[in-house]
Amino acid sequence: MMRLSSRLFLLAVVLAPSLVAAAETRHVLVIGIDGCRPDALAAADTPNLDALIQNGTYFEGTDIVSPDRKNPANTISGPGWSNLLCGVWPDKHGVLDNKFTEPKYDQFPHFFVRLKEAQPEARTVSFSDWKPIRDHITRGGDVVLDFSPAADVKGPGGYETGDAASTAACVELLGKEAPAAVVLYLGQVDENGHAHGFHPSVVQYRDAIERVDAHIGQAVGAVQRRPKNEDWLVIVCTDHGGSGTDHGNGHKNFDIRRTFMIVSGKNAKQGRSTEPTYQVDVVPTALKHLGVDPRPEWGLDGKAVGLKE
Ligand SMILES: [Zn+2]
Repeated sequence: MMRLSSRLFLLAVVLAPSLVAAAETRHVLVIGIDGCRPDALAAADTPNLDALIQNGTYFEGTDIVSPDRKNPANTISGPGWSNLLCGVWPDKHGVLDNKFTEPKYDQFPHFFVRLKEAQPEARTVSFSDWKPIRDHITRGGDVVLDFSPAADVKGPGGYETGDAASTAACVELLGKEAPAAVVLYLGQVDENGHAHGFHPSVVQYRDAIERVDAHIGQAVGAVQRRPKNEDWLVIVCTDHGGSGTDHGNGHKNFDIRRTFMIVSGKNAKQGRSTEPTYQVDVVPTALKHLGVDPRPEWGLDGKAVGLKE
């Protein structure tokens, strides 16, 4: 008897850790690259983004303009990141430019707020170096950090420094905890587009994409070092492309309005897709992975894409 019970005890000790490990948790890392043209992404050397694409779905031609809705907004970052992070079009979130004059974020908030309505215990964290993300768009985040350049710093350099700082803070946090939702915004690609040109042939623009790719490698590396019972979905998106050194008023210019989306991870389908996708699809995709059914009263405009379940 003694021998049997001590064997059972030993068995329990051996099994217990694996039983604990079997309880899987779900997490989302949304990586936003400001102003990244998909053709320039294809021309740049981006091993880390390529690896995410290999392990997920690459959506070609994600549109920043709704095909069937009034679009009162300019094709710039304020409306773009509101589409991407709130999951509704500008006629709902009310952000028409970068002035944030009359945002309706109380009614149509950042997806952190929706996640917490469904899962109040969910931790949400945002890192960015474009100040309006912190000041206006990101609501309800437990940790919202801004690394934007000081007002007197001109040119892309401040955003290159900011991207490195945002990424380092993200990596540090992921070394300690696993929030349900993390947003990492990187600004230098857009700044280099404004300074040198948004085009695959512009070396400074491609170089910025390659530096951002290295940062993405660091963030994804931190995710990969997390315990194996955590199922992370990585979504990569951008707010607009560009033409010449600008991207305003680009509703009819596909170099500006055509973007891309990567949905990557164990729960992502694999391959390239020409399925019509829109910026407002990011939030439903993130929420679905996290096990949240959007409520009708939230009025989300998109659909979940690229997921197995
Ligand atoms: Zn810009």
